[in-house]
Amino acid sequence: MQSAAPIDMIEELTVAVGAAHVLVDDDVRAGYEVDWTGRYQGPCRAVVRPDSVEEVAAVIRICAQHDVAVVPQAGNTGLVGGSVPRPAASGARAAIVLSLIRLTRLGAVDTAAMQVTVEAGVTFTTWREQARHAGLDTPVDFAARDTATIGGAIATNAGGSRVLRFGTMRQQVVGIEAVTAEGAIVGSLGGLPKETAGLHWPSLLAGSEGTLAVITAARLRLVPWFQHTTTALVAVESVAAGTRLLATLRQSLTSLDAVEVIAPAAMRLVSEHLGRQPPVSSPEAVLYVIIDCADHGDPSEQLLDVLSQADGIIDSAVTTDAVQRERLVAFRDRITEAIAAASTEAGVPTFKLDVAVPIDALAQLIEVAQDAADADGCRLIPFGHLAEGNLHLNHIGASHPERIADTVLAAVASLGGTISAEHGIGVAKAPWLHLIRNPAELAAQAAIRAALDPGGMLNPGVLQP
Ligand SMILES: Cc1cc2nc3c(=O)[nH]c(=O)nc-3n(C[C@H](O)[C@H](O)[C@H](O)COP(=O)(O)OP(=O)(O)OC[C@H]3O[C@@H](n4cnc5c(N)ncnc54)[C@H](O)[C@@H]3O)c2cc1C
Repeated sequence: MQSAAPIDMIEELTVAVGAAHVLVDDDVRAGYEVDWTGRYQGPCRAVVRPDSVEEVAAVIRICAQHDVAVVPQAGNTGLVGGSVPRPAASGARAAIVLSLIRLTRLGAVDTAAMQVTVEAGVTFTTWREQARHAGLDTPVDFAARDTATIGGAIATNAGGSRVLRFGTMRQQVVGIEAVTAEGAIVGSLGGLPKETAGLHWPSLLAGSEGTLAVITAARLRLVPWFQHTTTALVAVESVAAGTRLLATLRQSLTSLDAVEVIAPAAMRLVSEHLGRQPPVSSPEAVLYVIIDCADHGDPSEQLLDVLSQADGIIDSAVTTDAVQRERLVAFRDRITEAIAAASTEAGVPTFKLDVAVPIDALAQLIEVAQDAADADGCRLIPFGHLAEGNLHLNHIGASHPERIADTVLAAVASLGGTISAEHGIGVAKAPWLHLIRNPAELAAQAAIRAALDPGGMLNPGVLQP
């Protein structure tokens, strides 16, 4: 059972961050206690919103003294239940939500180093606006850009559409500042591209999901801003045709920016949600592939050339026009939103799996996932990032999600894949972590965690099998 945090702890927190930023009323806390999917929720004693690294350190020290757990939260767009407290019924100890959304300071862009320092609560949209203002661009982008934050994206090692060109969030962090469970401020925002001086805090914290330290700021890499983007929507006759197309695109086009995949079921759902048909639609399509090419000059010709020679293409539409592109990209960007709307209709939160397998095993994965969904009687909506063999398997109206996970995640592991490609493990995948990490690896992870957080106060339950 949860024990109430002592009143004097609330008073101490109020002194640390100001009364306006210690939220204790039930209705105000409620929005911080449930995740974006509506599947994960749990109570907290207070939501605390510090405004600086020093205030974060002060809050953590107070919580350590009172033996209260700290759940870091920022945009709360995470999809694996890691950003909200654990349910009271699970026996979790009292927790606060440590909201980082007030950490929004932006440094000046260094155009020579192609880097910028931003605080953890800065959103992806703001980061991109800041970069573009200086004539540069951001290497990571995904649909939750208006709300998801830099700290949350580093903590989950987020991916998105541009991974094939620039890598995941981990590859963009050239400096970090964070607060440990003891309230110590660690890391550096120097952003030196070369440094071999022992422990590398950005590498350690990327993907740690708030369990090793609370990220307060980061020094991030920027990339050239390509002013010309061409987008294609292609219907292919088989998964193999899709992977052959991917190989040709990679070999032929230096401007290749994204290669995404949408299953017909996902295309139907998002079309209904948007109230319009995609420019390419065929009953024979086994997959739809969305391709972005971006360059300083118009990359359309090279892309059209590749598409004209590729086999297995049923139909394609190509556009460079900004308005047309936006309309087309909506079929990719708004699938998650369409799924959320369908979940509300179904009356049960969608069960989401975010997995990746070697690209030549994708067809097998789709088959296993469809069989598992059919056995459950639920609706499967797959889409994802073709270049990384990463599929988001969304189960609408699933009756036995754990059974689906047992089947699909075991198959993913046996195909040489991972049970989480970009969303993290959180609490949602923790029971299956053993499928991809052996006992020695799990023990080493627990030892690192215990060394940095001996009291186990940072995000307990997350990343814990
Ligand atoms: C519509 C939609 C589309 C999405 N598309 C993608 C996609 O394409 N690719 C992708 O990778 N993800 C995607 N996501 C998932 C999500 O947006 C990412 O996981 C994102 O990185 C979470 O950022 P956040 O600020 O919302 O973090 P939160 O949800 O608040 O937190 C996520 C995790 O990070 C921890 N955390 C947050 N801030 C900090 C901090 N400062 N220090 C330490 N730990 C912290 C939390 O404790 C939690 O474990 C999508 C989500 C939605 C809703």
